[in-house]
Amino acid sequence: MAGRTSAAGGTAAESRETRTAARSAAGRQSRAARPEQVVVADPPPEPDYPRYRVEPGAGVRLADVDPDESEHFGRKKDAADELAHHRDRIADLQARLYAENRRSLLLVLQAMDTGGKDGTIKHVFRGVNPQGCQVSSFKAPSAEESAHDFLWRYHQRVPSRGMIGIFNRSHYEDVLVVRVKGLVPEEVWRPRYDVINQFEQALSLSGVTVLKFYLHISRDEQKRRLESRLADPDKRWKFSANDLRERRYWDDYMAAFEEALGNTSTDVAPWYVVPANNKWYRNLVIARTIADTLEAMDPRYPAPEEGLDAVTVDD
Ligand code: ATP
Ligand code: MG
Repeated sequence: MAGRTSAAGGTAAESRETRTAARSAAGRQSRAARPEQVVVADPPPEPDYPRYRVEPGAGVRLADVDPDESEHFGRKKDAADELAHHRDRIADLQARLYAENRRSLLLVLQAMDTGGKDGTIKHVFRGVNPQGCQVSSFKAPSAEESAHDFLWRYHQRVPSRGMIGIFNRSHYEDVLVVRVKGLVPEEVWRPRYDVINQFEQALSLSGVTVLKFYLHISRDEQKRRLESRLADPDKRWKFSANDLRERRYWDDYMAAFEEALGNTSTDVAPWYVVPANNKWYRNLVIARTIADTLEAMDPRYPAPEEGLDAVTVDD
């Protein structure tokens, strides 16, 4: 039976189907964004990552989050076995995601300088097949990048089906550094919160699960890390005078982060504020959040061809 033609040119039945499919895709994605409700038998999980999630619409006060927090984990050794366990889970689930080849995971890492984005990538992704991961680091935009809309360079690096993509800095720079340093006027950066939410919603509808981590260090901890870069000849290469200049804008950055996180933590793309003065606790929180999210996504190996039991391989 021919259906009524909708405004978009399809039949009414088709557009109903499209809407239903979109709703169930969104439902799947928001379940994956609250993984503890799906995969943890007896909450609260340890570490208690749901506590660090920014609830949609809730304001963020970074001063209320203790960057030294490590729950009952007293020192690095206490968390080592658990970190190794979550790394194994990520490796196994990543292999499934890759083989399934239908969906992808995008991780966004943001922090002040020395906040630990590089260290997180190095320690959380140890043991994951590099073929299924793509790390994209975003610096100040090139002339070509600046000549496009601000999302252009990020969209190109969104992970394709089966892949995990890691953004080391991200589209959030375009509401952070550009605001703090006055690189564009407020009429330009302020509407970007909505643009970013729409972008992430669109990604989610096409099978990309988005998870965002703000690595929360204190101003004192940044001082210690910068000093240790100066003191250690093997770390000096990491020291940049620009970090000292940015540090002077600490309070402005905190205000910019609070507003950005509060405006863009959504059901399909939540922010987590991760206490990050203790590197090992930071790694543990992030590893578990990623492993549980992947488990909630439930990627599966594709069904093998039929009749394989009868197959023999010629000599
Ligand atoms: P590292 O850990 O190596 O220091 P990094 O990400 O801090 O890594 P840098 O080269 O030190 O790399 O700094 C990159 C700089 O680029 C940051 O100061 C950041 O704010 C800036 N940047 C990133 N994206 C944008 C953007 N869209 N507009 C303007 N500046 C940007
Ligand atoms: Mg830097």
